[in-house]
Amino acid sequence: MLSEENQQALLAWYDDHQRELPWRQTNDPWAILLSEILLQQTQVSRGLVFWERMVEVFPTVASMAASPVDAVLKAWEGAGYYSRARRLHALSQQVMLAKEKGGFDGRLPSTYDELLSLPGIGPYTAAAVASIAFGQAVACVDGNIRRVMARQTAQPEPTPKQVQTWADGSLHAQRPGDWNQALMELGATVCTPRRWSCKTCPVQASCAGEVSPAKYPTPKKPRIELLRLWAVVEYALDGHPVLHQRPMSGMFAGLWGPVYHTEAEKVDQTLLKCGVIAHQLSHRRIEVEVYCKQPSEFAIGTNRTEVALSSLDEKVLHLAAQHGP
Ligand code: SF4
Repeated sequence: MLSEENQQALLAWYDDHQRELPWRQTNDPWAILLSEILLQQTQVSRGLVFWERMVEVFPTVASMAASPVDAVLKAWEGAGYYSRARRLHALSQQVMLAKEKGGFDGRLPSTYDELLSLPGIGPYTAAAVASIAFGQAVACVDGNIRRVMARQTAQPEPTPKQVQTWADGSLHAQRPGDWNQALMELGATVCTPRRWSCKTCPVQASCAGEVSPAKYPTPKKPRIELLRLWAVVEYALDGHPVLHQRPMSGMFAGLWGPVYHTEAEKVDQTLLKCGVIAHQLSHRRIEVEVYCKQPSEFAIGTNRTEVALSSLDEKVLHLAAQHGP
């Protein structure tokens, strides 16, 4: 656990050194929730762009609930991990339900347990929103906090329970939101996975791992799997590509795109081959061979600006357009 002295040192450091981020300038729980969901799997610099877009398009939980899920996917376009957008839409609709129907009468709930009951909200997001937006004394645990804890206590492989116990015991009960953000900020800017600035660290005095931070926590080798796909882009006579909405589960669920095959044999080898697109997700590398079909009078094209596409499908269509009609 961090002592009271260390708590004060870390909060003072956070007050002076925190990055200026727009969701830290607001008390609006909805805007804070949007930032927490976006930042789960998106870097802060990219998250900023998408947060501003989402807050502009959906300034309130009611505005999102009143929109079709396709509009949410369209606004989310480019942010990746689209299941977050679909669950966010489901969350907004549940919040708008009347209490007797399992909802919250249009107000985002304020407690950890109530937040946790909403679609797409896990323990981290519930604790972050409860503490930052509503001042509830609950401790967050994320990758940054786990790393700080592992180094502070010199534990190579702390279990989730050990990390949570450390975070609970270290929490500053009077400023829980700032405290959680301060610990995460420390992990994101001072005590990072491959670089650490122990000399300027506000909690250096209590750190058992500062002699060799690289050992804590034990680095894991990421397992990157390769997925090979074959895309066939067909065009209508008006020049628009034929796009299909993908099923609501699985990869790129609910987004639009051309037909993908998982076996080369499914592709007519007389089609024009446009090239290969490589696309990197966090744990997966996708390689797509792109083929073009001649425009057909029977094909119905889709205006790509009116539907939500993944970044991969944007790349596939761009490559096809360079070779196709
Ligand atoms: S002293 Fe160094 S290793 Fe320890 S928490 Fe601070 S930056 Fe990380």
